Order: sequence, then C-alpha cells, then structure tokens
Amino acid sequence: MRRLGPGKLVIASHNSGKVREITELLGPYGIEPVSAAELDLPEPDETGVTFVDNAELKARLAADLSGLPALADDSGLCVDALDGRPGIYSARWAGEDKDFGVAMERVHREMLERDPEAGRSAHFVCALAIAWPDDGQCEIFEGRVDGTLVWPPRGENGFGYDPIFQPIGRDVTFAEMAPADKYAIDHRADAFRKLVAALL
Ligand code: IMP
Repeated sequence: MRRLGPGKLVIASHNSGKVREITELLGPYGIEPVSAAELDLPEPDETGVTFVDNAELKARLAADLSGLPALADDSGLCVDALDGRPGIYSARWAGEDKDFGVAMERVHREMLERDPEAGRSAHFVCALAIAWPDDGQCEIFEGRVDGTLVWPPRGENGFGYDPIFQPIGRDVTFAEMAPADKYAIDHRADAFRKLVAALL
C-alpha cells in the first residue's frame, strides 16, 4: 500500500468540527492540513448509499480539483431501534439550518413512536477515504464506537449528536467530555488508527 509522506493534505470537509478533530489527529505526523474551505472546493452531493461510497466520492473530487492528496470522512449515527437510521442521512436530519437540536428531537421522537420500550443502543460510524490525484488510487478505513442514547441532551462540547451519545463504559455524553478525551475513543479515532498503521 502507498505511504503518505509529510506535506499538504486536503481535508475534504466543510464541517468545522470534523476539520478540527482531523487536524488534531494528524498533528504528530508532519502533515500540513489544508481545508476544503480554504481552497474554495465545492461541497459535492452525497449521492452514495453507504458511508464508504460518500467518503470516496468526496476524497476523489477534492484530489482531482486540488491536485493534492485528499482525505474525506463520511460519518453518522446509527440507531438500532430505528434500523440504523439516520445513518448516512445524519447531517440531512438537521435540515438546511444544520440545527442538530431538531435532529436530536427527531431521533427521540421516532424512537418513542416506534417503540418506547425498545433499547437505546446506537453507534457512530466513520469511513475515511484518502485519494491521490495522479493515479486515482483510493484507500478506505472504517471505524466505529458503540454507546447508548440519552434524553434530554447533555453537555456543551463537540458537535452534531454528541449531546445524546454516551459511549459504552462512561456515564457522560460525548458533549460532556473534554475534546481530547472524546477524540481518543471515538469512531474517527478508530478509523484513524487503521489509517496511521497502514499509511504513515
Ligand atoms: P457527513 O459525514 O458530513 O455526511 O455528516 C455526518 C453527520 O453525522 C454530522 O453532521 C453529524 O451530525 C454526525 N456525526 C458524525 N460524527 C459525529 C460525531 O463525532 N459526533 C456527533 N455527530 C457526529
């Protein structure tokens, strides 16, 4: 497998929470992250039907347009009692205003409507894709973290569904944890460990 050397790497995401987390994870490896926003890259439609499809299409487009290696993440929350939804639609459940209060309410409401007695287990999934511009090569790494959903939301840190997600073995939500503690155990860190072992 091709190795990733020091130098510029496009972070093909317009989500500032993700860009911040990925930048921290890459810190020790002499890689210079450049965000898609800095390069004014467009945000492609996520037309894939899996996390992997969407990560790959975002990484390929950013690599082709920038001429640099590009890393994209597609991630989301999968709720067992909702048959894995919102899944790849996690961002879309927040609507045009990207209001995750609305998205978390919807998760809670749909769980109650479906079956108030059902379990509250859920997991976050992260697919990371890294694409190179010259030969079209693309490598994929997947990570996951399991937990339980809580209601009402708790905590001010993080982003997205963090205030309702309590990882297994902890009694605080991701939004109540210090960012570094969350980054050490979450789905993105799990996928990153695999990427680092293979490419760095
Ligand atoms: P996308 O990968 O850009 O399609 O967006 C994934 C969506 O999943 C984000 O907008 C968040 O709502 C949610 N998500 C992904 N990772 C996390 C996380 O670490 N914490 C909270 N929400 C997340």
